[in-house]
Amino acid sequence: MRIGVPTEIKKQESRVGLTPESVSEIVRAGHHVNVQSGAGLGSGFANEAYTMVGATILPDAAAVFADSELIVKVKEPQPEETARLTPDHTIFTYLHLAPDPVQAKGLMDSGCLAIAYETVTDDEGGLPLLRPMSQVAGRMSLQVAAWALMRTKRGRGILLGGVPGVMPSKVVIIGGGVSGTHAAEIAVGMRADVTIFDRNNNRLAELDEQFRGSLKTMYSTAHSLGEAIRDADLIIGAVLIPGASAPKLISREQLKTMKPGAVLVDIAIDQGGCFETSHATTHEDPIYDVDGILHYCVANMPGAVPRTSTYALNNATLPFVLQIANKGARAAINENPHLAHGLTVDAGKIAHQAVAHDLGEPY
Ligand code: NAD
Repeated sequence: MRIGVPTEIKKQESRVGLTPESVSEIVRAGHHVNVQSGAGLGSGFANEAYTMVGATILPDAAAVFADSELIVKVKEPQPEETARLTPDHTIFTYLHLAPDPVQAKGLMDSGCLAIAYETVTDDEGGLPLLRPMSQVAGRMSLQVAAWALMRTKRGRGILLGGVPGVMPSKVVIIGGGVSGTHAAEIAVGMRADVTIFDRNNNRLAELDEQFRGSLKTMYSTAHSLGEAIRDADLIIGAVLIPGASAPKLISREQLKTMKPGAVLVDIAIDQGGCFETSHATTHEDPIYDVDGILHYCVANMPGAVPRTSTYALNNATLPFVLQIANKGARAAINENPHLAHGLTVDAGKIAHQAVAHDLGEPY
């Protein structure tokens, strides 16, 4: 199969669909890989690193799309990329289509086959292609929040872990899945006072077991959250309902009950955000203030640490890229139900139930 890796063009995005190590595996399996010149630079991979393992470097995105059947990317296609897709293309990337009707229409109009990383599953019922980026975003959320909480950044002027004789900060994490758990690990490591909320009792029991008293767990209801946010210095939104828009768990009205200078980090912003006042921001200008509460809502957090993120993503995507390349996209989907769960757009129609529901499209 002919596989294409265009340069990511979303603002502040420096990851790349395939590392030279992945390209090497794909070429050894007998396939042809086109890489756009400079596509790997943001993650520290020069063109020569790709040519050394057998890739062909093409000058621009137009050439990569025109000469490839399978496009492997990182972020959702931008309008100029969607315009290059045809019924002969399969695109394998993050799509996050539920809150994005414009992109959905573009993909349907193109006639391409689109497989979304974020809904591919594994034997444990997990989301293996979302997991590595959620790990990065979860760990990074504490890094950015610690910075935002500084007075010089208009935060509450507190140190997350306190010092001997001074109370640590109160951190509320909503959603105890992958990103929430990785956020909790760093928050506990920084000696904050951490409470993690979830609606899944089994997950709460696992967290209780895993952290052995170093954090508190709470069942998530509007009431329990409403109580906790009054005292919180930092709230991390890390919920997910797979394929659907995030539920809004803190209203604008509730911001008035919070401490001035407290920080909200909305990791779930890529699914529309879990706070009413969230809107997507970029790494260039990541934080804004609503009623004295700071919001950090960057939709591509892992893009700020592209080298770590590209390797982590490729560790998870490579087996699926090889399956698609070896068998062809349709046969790979028919044979592997986990890959089939990623199928999102097919021949002009939305092919994923929850995404179709959110977009008001037939399924
Ligand atoms: P996950 O499925 O591992 O965890 C989500 C958790 O949320 C689950 O445990 C679930 O039970 C819980 N949950 C659902 N509804 C809830 C509610 N009302 N209250 C409390 N908990 C609730 O998901 P994840 O991999 O941690 O991803 C979380 C979100 O972060 C997703 O939207 C994902 O796309 C996003 N994400 C964003 C970035 C970014 O750069 N901003 C990066 C990676 C992932």
